[in-house]
Amino acid sequence: QDVVNKIAAGEIIVAPVNALKELMENSVDAGAASLEILVKDGGLKLLQVTDNGCGIEKEDLPILCERFTTSKLQKFEDLQTIATYGFRGEALASISHIAHLTVTTKTKDSSCAWRAVYEGGKLTPAKPGQSADPKPVAGRQGTQITVEDLFYTIPTRQRAFRSTSDEYSKIIDMVRRYAVHCPHVGFSCKKHGESSATIAIPAHTSRSDRIRRLYGGSVANGLTEFSTSDDQLGFKASGFATNANYSAKKTTFLLFINHRCVESFKIRKAIEQTYASFLPKNSHPFVYLSLEIDPRKVDVNVHPTKQEVHFLNEDETIQAVCEHLRSELAQVDA
Ligand code: ADP
Ligand code: MG
Repeated sequence: QDVVNKIAAGEIIVAPVNALKELMENSVDAGAASLEILVKDGGLKLLQVTDNGCGIEKEDLPILCERFTTSKLQKFEDLQTIATYGFRGEALASISHIAHLTVTTKTKDSSCAWRAVYEGGKLTPAKPGQSADPKPVAGRQGTQITVEDLFYTIPTRQRAFRSTSDEYSKIIDMVRRYAVHCPHVGFSCKKHGESSATIAIPAHTSRSDRIRRLYGGSVANGLTEFSTSDDQLGFKASGFATNANYSAKKTTFLLFINHRCVESFKIRKAIEQTYASFLPKNSHPFVYLSLEIDPRKVDVNVHPTKQEVHFLNEDETIQAVCEHLRSELAQVDA
């Protein structure tokens, strides 16, 4: 059973960035206005997210890392929403099967913070001989999740990572994406032992400002904001895209569907085709696109880590978005 759990977890979390994405989504779901991320050895040694969200009730800690434990299933509608988030209540459970997981959390009404350590889905003593029960500690409201020695239960996987700096780059890339998507949330990301952060974005700064800071001034200067919707097709789309004044060697495409960072080969291709008609050959755009689709029409029955999402009316929706984008960009050029 334990082996099965480990294998299943290793399929959901294939690299440190997958774990980080889950932790960031949880913090955002918890209403956090600030996310502080600390990383050691590309996240393989240490991955820590500290937020100032709602915190977790002490009573919920014993089952927190059991599979399918989620606080996000209040009504059926929520279930549909959760469906778009891929898997429900599996992230922390998975992480606890492949890493040392420590949770320190305080709700608004609790007089102190509580610290719990997990191993294989269950509470475990912090030190041999101690009780496994959560311990009271000093702390501020919010949650700190510490993931240490990721993949230590899967040594072959652990050895497969050749470059911790590659893993750190993937982490930075994911933090930038969420920082652009959540403009009300402050983000910082730091390598363990370094004094200055790689990313430091204060809360409540605009998206265009964040794009400038995270992707460079040349992107921000040629940026066009767009937004469109279609009730019949059932979508809302908004975002920022560079115009003909900007070009890069490769496309940067940030895609969020229902507030989850995903990949879509189809949408990426359609956007590149939209630009191909007016950008010089071998030059590419920056596009941030947030799509909101009726959760009942989204199909995430695809391998979770691939993050490939499909939905009803996909082709028509993509066409509508790209046509809108084309007309917006044409106005800028005129
Ligand atoms: P899911 O997000 O699908 O519910 P997870 O395994 O990611 O499943 O998290 C399990 C539960 O733990 C969440 O439903 C939430 O109640 C709680 N939780 C996890 N992270 C946080 C956090 N940073 N702040 C508050 N609650 C959290
Ligand atoms: Mg989650």
